[in-house]
Amino acid sequence: MRKKTKMIHAGITGDNQTGAVSVPIFQVSTYKQPEAGKHTGYEYSRTGNPTRHALETTIAELENGTAGFAFASGMAAITSVMMLFEPGDHIIVTDDVYGGSYRLMTRVLERFKLNYSFVDTSDLKEVKKAAQPETKAVFIESPTNPLLKITDINAVAAFTHSKKLKLIVDNTFATPYFQNPIDLGADIVVHSATKYIGGHSDVVAGLVVVNTEALAEELHFIQNSIGSILGPQDAWLLLRGIKTLGIRMEAIESNAQHIANFLMNHPDVAKVFYPGLVQHTGHEVAEKQTRGFGGMISFDVGSEEKADQVVDRVNYFTLAESLGAVESLISIPAKMTHASIPRSRRLMLGITDGLVRLSVGIEDIDDLIEDLAQALKSYE
Ligand SMILES: *Cc1c(COP(=O)(O)O)cnc(C)c1O
Repeated sequence: MRKKTKMIHAGITGDNQTGAVSVPIFQVSTYKQPEAGKHTGYEYSRTGNPTRHALETTIAELENGTAGFAFASGMAAITSVMMLFEPGDHIIVTDDVYGGSYRLMTRVLERFKLNYSFVDTSDLKEVKKAAQPETKAVFIESPTNPLLKITDINAVAAFTHSKKLKLIVDNTFATPYFQNPIDLGADIVVHSATKYIGGHSDVVAGLVVVNTEALAEELHFIQNSIGSILGPQDAWLLLRGIKTLGIRMEAIESNAQHIANFLMNHPDVAKVFYPGLVQHTGHEVAEKQTRGFGGMISFDVGSEEKADQVVDRVNYFTLAESLGAVESLISIPAKMTHASIPRSRRLMLGITDGLVRLSVGIEDIDDLIEDLAQALKSYE
């Protein structure tokens, strides 16, 4: 099955009993048992729900894994994955990892004695250098936020396999349409499905896919024990979002390529970060491991004032956090998503005051470029 067909036909897509071509929303908590202690596959909706199960089966197939799990949010998904580890374990993490993941790891999970090294995982030497006897996993994001740094997943996987470490990839930015980390050697894939998979800024959800039965059993035990599950209505919204993930990502990427080229040629833009540009440091690796470069672009306009001007003047880019939806969004990472990081560390990571981030949507490209052109114009 080819990619675009898979978005429509993978997993569980309808209802055998009625012939409904859309999976019903099973708004139910418990299930009638034929006799005490026997059940029909479902006994209680925390343990399993048919709508959630349809979504979990679908994401597992999209990521070429053994089993999928749906959670109440991306953070609930990542927290549940972290529960696979034990006090004293050490995990190597991408240094510009999503802010919420950084907060979870450093402010919540450190209480349970999980230890971390945050390193530039786009440099394999840094990953190797950070390994300790207690290291149990490497957690990477590729591309990262907001500088779209690319980690060579295959190369890191070769290292984690040789050391018997788990490789966890947050695949939110690339989506299962453009990148499949399990095919590249990852053990666990996580998604904030709030972003591209949902795709319409109307649901908060997280997904996990694992590549072995043993991990599947363990993660199901954790999901059922913690209860961090996704409800049936939201599971259904994701099933609906997945149907158009392929065409949305292609439309988004085409728009993003045009915008990246426009920004590259703009005299007031000092630097553009987009993996689809040959000038981008991770371009070659991105080209090797993904089928597309996605819809996130960051660019530096040189100063806080100019960045303020741009976000103030745009008409079709909504000033908002989050990303991955049909509508274009704009943000200033230093003041919004990355404001909690001290300025000195922000600058060290390359997140300057003049950095503007776009989540490109599926509007008409001419409107988007005209809009950015008028917003960038200087009136001295
Ligand atoms: C948004 C996001 C998360 C967190 O997901 P929520 O659904 O907001 O809990 C994790 N990782 C990345 C890369 C994200 O963009």
